[in-house]
Amino acid sequence: MKVLVADDDPGSLLVARAAVERPGHECLVASDGDSAWEMFQRHAPQAVVTDLMMPGMDGLELCRAIRAHGRDAYTYVIVLTSLDAEEDVLAGLRAGADDYVAKPLDPFVLHSRLLVAQRVTSLHAQLARYRAVLSEQARTDPLTGLPNRLKLTEDLEALHERAERYGQTYALAMCDVDNFKGYNDTYGHPAGDRVLQEVAAALAGSSRRADGVYRFGGEEFLLVLPNQTWVGAEAAAQRARTAVEDLAIEHSGGPAGVVTVSAGVAAFTDGHRPDLDTMLAAADKALYAAKAGGRNRVVLSS
Ligand code: GH3
Ligand code: MG
Ligand code: MG
Repeated sequence: MKVLVADDDPGSLLVARAAVERPGHECLVASDGDSAWEMFQRHAPQAVVTDLMMPGMDGLELCRAIRAHGRDAYTYVIVLTSLDAEEDVLAGLRAGADDYVAKPLDPFVLHSRLLVAQRVTSLHAQLARYRAVLSEQARTDPLTGLPNRLKLTEDLEALHERAERYGQTYALAMCDVDNFKGYNDTYGHPAGDRVLQEVAAALAGSSRRADGVYRFGGEEFLLVLPNQTWVGAEAAAQRARTAVEDLAIEHSGGPAGVVTVSAGVAAFTDGHRPDLDTMLAAADKALYAAKAGGRNRVVLSS
């Protein structure tokens, strides 16, 4: 564990350092509050042991700054207090400390408290790992492995806001599998699931690195095309449409005898900057026109 000790009394600092290093922890030392805060930000220690009275930032201010710092990992904070200073103990804990140790420092006491610090910080680290995994899972469609609607909403809102603010362009292509209800009815739902997986892979494979492919829901997919206008977006949608057709998955009820998609394209350009809902509605409307026009085609929003 990396432990930062902050104390303006050199003797006390020496004892603390020995107590930290004896059980094998790495020890960083600071002799005033300001340099402790600076070292905390630079080295991200798992535990901080701090005196209360120090030049510059005092121990309570340091505790508060550590708690207010938006760091993902938890920092276990121990304040050093004088014997019988109950008010100091309460003030330290209220400022965000986890524990306190009385001065003069008994090395064994600090050693034992650091065992607790280690357990608590490793539990927090484990929680952070679970959180990251769950957050990823919540944004991934389990059938196709594509990012899902939740992730789309987050990414698209960010993209739209950026485009609005910096005068950039982007385009959307809403893709929908043609006569997919018929596919399920003829070949069965499990076969339909496999088709969605293959279509998803084909769409992802046909897209460029900067583009996003999302499962919008059911048999609908959304291509998000940053910095594109009509020409580029139409080309991307055509590439996606062709990639699905080229899978050549038999579909007797499809417009081409194989599984195909139709796509509707909307663009956010210099002359046309609607809000996000309007963009999605425009792509959807163009998709509807592609369906009405015979399917397996791309239609640009008017
Ligand atoms: P259109 O060409 O107009 O899009 O016709 P369609 O039959 O594809 O459209 P419709 O909306 O009537 O049917 C969509 C079908 O997609 C119905 C639904 O059961 C199926 N579907 C949606 N999600 C899944 C899924 O996860 N797996 C499978 N196998 N089918 C799904
Ligand atoms: Mg469909
Ligand atoms: Mg549909």
